[in-house]
Amino acid sequence: MDGDARDADWGQGCGENCFTLDGDDFTCSRVLDEPEVWRVELLMHDTFLPSVNAFVVRDGAETLVVDAGTSDDFNDTRLMRALIGLGVDPERTTLLCTHAHMDHAGLARELSEAGVRVVIPDGVLADMRRLAVPAWRDEMVARMQAEGASQAESAELADVIWDHAVNFETEKIAFSTVAAGETLRCGRWALEVVPTPGHTPGHCALWEPCTRTAFLGDAVLFLCSTCIGFWSEGEDAIGAQLATLRNLSEMGVERALLGHGLQEGSVAERCLANIAHHERRSARALAAIREVPGSTGYELVPAMGWRAPFEHWAETPALTRWFLVSESIAHLDHLVATGAVRREPDAAGVSRYFAAE
Ligand SMILES: [Zn+2]
Ligand SMILES: [Zn+2]
Repeated sequence: MDGDARDADWGQGCGENCFTLDGDDFTCSRVLDEPEVWRVELLMHDTFLPSVNAFVVRDGAETLVVDAGTSDDFNDTRLMRALIGLGVDPERTTLLCTHAHMDHAGLARELSEAGVRVVIPDGVLADMRRLAVPAWRDEMVARMQAEGASQAESAELADVIWDHAVNFETEKIAFSTVAAGETLRCGRWALEVVPTPGHTPGHCALWEPCTRTAFLGDAVLFLCSTCIGFWSEGEDAIGAQLATLRNLSEMGVERALLGHGLQEGSVAERCLANIAHHERRSARALAAIREVPGSTGYELVPAMGWRAPFEHWAETPALTRWFLVSESIAHLDHLVATGAVRREPDAAGVSRYFAAE
């Protein structure tokens, strides 16, 4: 990557702190001065969110890229063009992925091949080994069947989400790991790796305490409530997310760089509002179980207050149905974990739910 790429029509557009990456208004823009952070907005083509952020932190000759966008024909050149435009030296650049979802790790290979050092937290490696392997796809199918979904729909939903996690080991992308509590350096800055489980078990944020700046990945968003799917039976993804939101609300984050969209107001208030949102949904699930004791998880999905077209369920896109079913099951796991409900298998092995008292 050298300066020759700065050709005449590149970099025109919105001034010295912002440049367009192509004709469809995607930009690389400077969003913070201390530390110096640039936001590269990258396209998302197959989920509810229109775009995903990659952040480029710079100090002197060193660069830290936080998250690496989705791999597709547009983005493959977009992130690279942004780095070239910023004059980044890939040999003095580190990529840190907050989690293994493809919209945050999709371009890791391209950066790695350009000479960037790829780093993931230990928890993200554990997620890759556990959730980006065929055994997890099969476990998802079995779990949804045990919650009362048909075999066909369980397989359909597991398959639609299946390739959304990236596994650097099976993809043979070179990487190293960093432990929770350790810091990643970029010039003068030391960014601490902070576990933020919930969206995935191993999700991590980066925290720069001097400027109270946090790179939060998908731990909390202002655009929407971040998706919380079920983990293995006996685990409590919603409970983990509630604890993460509480921690983040107490950390004193002043400036948040998010996986999608921008910070819109107080991080603490957003976390507390998101806690209330999840607690309302769990309360609705509990009320529905009280109303019809012995319901299956699948039967309880429409009773949890989703704004979703349940009357047209069969025509609803599989990805939408996945998010609804998986987060509903996560709420049932939370109610079981907190002792509010009992889960009992019926003769066919399908779980039935009963209020505890
Ligand atoms: Zn994600
Ligand atoms: Zn994301």
